[in-house]
Amino acid sequence: MSSSLLVANALAPWIAASVLGAVAVGLVVAVLSRRASTMRAELEAEYRDYSGALSRERETLSTVIETMAEGVVVAEPDGRFVIFNSAARRIVDRDPVDVPPEEWPETYRAFHSDMTTLLDADELILRQAIRGVEPEPLDAYFRHDDGGGVHVRGIAKPVRDEDGALLGGALVLHDRTERRRIEGERAALIEDLESRNRELGRFTYTVSHELRSPLVTIKGFLGLLAQDAEAGNAERLALDMERITEAVDTMGGLLEDLLELSRSGVVVDAAGTVDLGGLIREVVRVLDGPIEGAGAEVRIADNLPTLHGDRTRLFEVFQNLIENALKFMGDQPSPKIALRVREEDEYTICCVSDNGIGIAEKDRERVFRVFERVETSVEGSGVGLALVKGIVEAHGGSVWVESGEAGVGSTFCFSLPRRAPNG
Ligand code: ADP
Repeated sequence: MSSSLLVANALAPWIAASVLGAVAVGLVVAVLSRRASTMRAELEAEYRDYSGALSRERETLSTVIETMAEGVVVAEPDGRFVIFNSAARRIVDRDPVDVPPEEWPETYRAFHSDMTTLLDADELILRQAIRGVEPEPLDAYFRHDDGGGVHVRGIAKPVRDEDGALLGGALVLHDRTERRRIEGERAALIEDLESRNRELGRFTYTVSHELRSPLVTIKGFLGLLAQDAEAGNAERLALDMERITEAVDTMGGLLEDLLELSRSGVVVDAAGTVDLGGLIREVVRVLDGPIEGAGAEVRIADNLPTLHGDRTRLFEVFQNLIENALKFMGDQPSPKIALRVREEDEYTICCVSDNGIGIAEKDRERVFRVFERVETSVEGSGVGLALVKGIVEAHGGSVWVESGEAGVGSTFCFSLPRRAPNG
């Protein structure tokens, strides 16, 4: 056997083992690489699913934020905005502007709730939040270009990642304008109710006071009547009875006035159409006697409008005001009364002016209260102007004395809404 054959024989098992090993390694590598590519494909598919879900989530979230009624603003620690939804743009009345946080109050015209004091940069809760501070909620007002604005309650919080590192701050703005309007209306209503209550208290006091004095008179004269009857003094008896009758008449008159006053709020047809010119001329015709008696000149403006109201009740208003103008002329040698009408906003304003004794500033409010009289030398009950007030207010208007210093005369005006009720 040759030596080379010997070597070959000796190496044969080793070579066989090596070849087998190589084949086995090749197989393992192939299997492993196939598995690796399967894993890679699986991982890629998983990643695609994950990023798809993530982007769907992001889309949903941004749609929700964009359609929210609340303003949402998210900023990075340096003040750059990441989110500024459309409600926030509507609230601040502008698009976000890239300015440093110190300039936010002026840029977005952010005021305190008093609507006049500009917020200090340090007071901005979003600015505090992007610095990692957790601020208290803040009530503020954003002024708009058109002169209006929005009242808000703002809540801000710092935004952090799971390790607590600061990512920025988020601000939610809740529009409270409507709520404030309702609160304001409620406060005005309560104030109105309280003032009516006070007026009612005053009214009850005055009425009982006025009714008491004829009662006291009656009681006094009834005592005298008994004495005079006992003494058989027929002359004094007649006088006593006359006084009692007078007091009873006074009381009857007061009750009559009160009854009429109680009816002043009853407006039968506030939506009726009234030709003001025709109405005033008719009142003047009815008062022809007293006007001539006073030697007064009555001027009625031309082109008077047609308005809405209860003709019968408005007739009483003009009659009362013209009668008063005649009654309180004092010693004016050439009495003049003028009737004018003007349109102001939603109202028609009617005024009756005279050149009589006038009313001092301090008395201009109280003359509209029942039984309140300033000039007592002239006959009257002090109910006329209270009646006028009641009728005008039942129409949705108001009444006032516009001018009138002593000696210069008075101008009584009242307003009536131009639009018919429910019209
Ligand atoms: P009366 O005329 O019965 O006194 P009113 O309620 O009509 O009651 O008026 C209340 C008071 O207002 C009057 O007593 C008078 O002092 C004052 N007053 C009313 N109208 C005029 C007027 N045109 N000029 C001056 N004072 C007036």
